[in-house]
Order: sequence, then structure tokens, then C-alpha cells
Amino acid sequence: MIPVNELSFEGNERRYLEECIVSGWVSSEGPFVDRFEKEYSSFIGRAHGIAVCNGTAALETALYALGIGAGDEVIMPSFTIISCALACLRLGAIPVLVDIEPEIWTMAVERIEEKITTRTKAIMAVHIFGNAVDMDKVLELARKHNLKVVEDIAEAQGSQYFSNERGSQWRACGALGDIAATSFYANKIITTGEGGMVLTDNDEYARKARDYRNLCFGKEKRFTHEEIGYNFRMSNLQAALGVARLEQVVNFMRIKAQLGEYYKKKLSGISRLKFMTSRSYTKLTYWVYALTLTPESGMTAEELMRRLEARRIGTRPFFQGLHTQPALKRLGLFGREEYLHTENAYTYGLYLPSGLALTEPKIDKVVEALKEALES
Ligand SMILES: *Cc1c(COP(=O)(O)O)cnc(C)c1O
Repeated sequence: MIPVNELSFEGNERRYLEECIVSGWVSSEGPFVDRFEKEYSSFIGRAHGIAVCNGTAALETALYALGIGAGDEVIMPSFTIISCALACLRLGAIPVLVDIEPEIWTMAVERIEEKITTRTKAIMAVHIFGNAVDMDKVLELARKHNLKVVEDIAEAQGSQYFSNERGSQWRACGALGDIAATSFYANKIITTGEGGMVLTDNDEYARKARDYRNLCFGKEKRFTHEEIGYNFRMSNLQAALGVARLEQVVNFMRIKAQLGEYYKKKLSGISRLKFMTSRSYTKLTYWVYALTLTPESGMTAEELMRRLEARRIGTRPFFQGLHTQPALKRLGLFGREEYLHTENAYTYGLYLPSGLALTEPKIDKVVEALKEALES
């Protein structure tokens, strides 16, 4: 079986984990948490990093830090993980959706303005499969309508965007909006097992994020709580893993780039598939190698995934649109909204094995199996 994600731990992972155990620092107090916050935030190019227990909590904490609350609307893509909507709902805010761009699967920025109302407070720009949202347009709209911008960089760690709004230069995804959230789940470029981080240059947002992830303990009297917060802390063990992984990030990005290029080369010429592309404003990190079947292929992603599974190749489907999620619709959200490009991506899209431990001979096997699956 070639799994969709496969990891190997060949750096300082064991050494740092052992340091935690030997020193006794295993919960969130301990030197690796600070160190990981500093090192990861400087990797992205942000002044502050606030480590939390997962990416979903990071999104919620980021919205809280911006002051998003009951009745506020947050515009986000329909094509994303449910975490984005959940982060809003837990704060009493309302997710408002826009469709995606068909080729690159990130939010269609030209559809944002029609969704802005007097209650809109923020735009959540979710960079998808390593591809950047066209952030200059988002930043321009935010300025015009006085909105905040949250970036979700869980899938675009290491990707860059050429921003005219931010000094006419390449900037890391996560260093463009007011605040960003990321995830360190096992399939992300940097993993801590489970984990996440909030990133910002704003001192006040950083302070609020730190409070929120730590139960909003009192400043003068520790056990007097003026605000509601949660225990979203990251443990020293998780941060130790993160520090060790971050030491290898340049290598990880090189591996992902090579895998992406190798897939592209090997798959070229298969007519029933459409491959990942990016716009000239993005320096793409192939977080995963994603593709779609063409509608003319007469096959859905579900069918192709079944055929690949039978050939012992692991795959993952694309996101199902938030506007079709039963759990969200039951709350009365999204009425009869339809998002054509999201629905097409869901019906025809999948991603292939893309883990950091994947090798070119394994990719050859994946490509063989894919060709067979398409022909059978
Ligand atoms: C993985 C992911 C998350 C959620 O992260 P968790 O750590 O699993 O909670 C959020 N947003 C996007 C775009 C993701 O891919």
C-alpha cells in the first residue's frame, strides 16, 4: 500500500522529545513552546506566534483576537475544511460563502464584494493545496470596507505571494493579512502531531490570543476571569517535535517541490486529467499533489479513488462545499446557495500520495496504477 501521507523522522525529533522527558517539562510550560513560537513566526515573517492545540482552535483564537463576536459576518470560501465555519460559529459569528476559482481552488476574490453587508467584519482567506488567494484584491477590499483579514495557511506553509499592497515583493502566505492561523497536523508541512499557531504583528491581537488559549486567567488575581477563554495550549512535547521539524523545513519544501515536478512530468499527456496550476503571483509549495478529472472523462473522483484503492494507492477526496454540509444547513445557514466550481471540485477532485517520505519509484507505481484505473 502506498499511503496518502507517509512521514519519516530523521532529524532531532527523538533527541528533543527525550529532553522533555528527562527534564520533566511535558505540559505547556517548558522551553520548547517559546522556542517554537519564535522560530515558526520568524519563518513566516511575523512578530508574534501563539502556539495552540490544533489548527481549528488557531482559527477560532485568531477571530477572537480580532474582536469577532455575536452576529458578525466573516466571508470565506465555500471550498474549505469545516474548521473555518466552526471557528465563527463558536464565537457566535456567521460564515458567509463565496465560490472558488476553478483552476486553483482558492476563493474567487471578485465575488467577495457582493457578499459584504453592514455586519461583515472580516475576510477569511484560505490558501488551498499550496495555492495562494489573490491577497492584493482581498487587502484592497478590506481597506475599502474597513474589514479585517485572517489568513488560513494550514495548507500553504512556505508558499509565497507577490504583493503590490505589501511593498511590491514576495511575502510568505501568513504575512499578508492582519492575522493568520496554521495547523501542525501530521499531513501538514510542519507537524507537531496535533497543533496550531496564531501569527500576527499586532501586539494587542497577540495578547488577546494568548489570553484566549489559556482560559483568560486574571492578570492581578489569577483565578478571577474577566473573559471566557479555553484551554487551547500546546504541550512542550508537541513543540519539541515542531522545533525539530522546523529545522528541516528547507529540505521538506525541496522534497515537496521535487515530488510535484516529478508527478507533473510523469502525468503529462494523460488527457482525462487536469493538473494543479498556480498563478504568476504564487510561488507554490506542493503541499499535496492535487488533480481533477475532466467532466468529459465520464468518471467521478469517487470512482477513480475506488479503483486506486483496489490497486493499493491511498488518495483523499477534495473538500465538500460548506453550503452542502448537513450540520451547517440544519442551523439554517446557506439556504439554497449553490457554488458551481466548489461542486465540480468536490465531484472531480482528489489528491495523490504526497507525504514527505514518498520516493520517485513509488510515484512511478502511483502513475502506473492511475493509468490503469483510467483505462479499465
Ligand atoms: C488541516 C486544516 C485545518 C485544521 O487543522 P487541524 O489542526 O486539523 O484542526 C484548517 N484549515 C485548513 C485549510 C486545513 O487544511
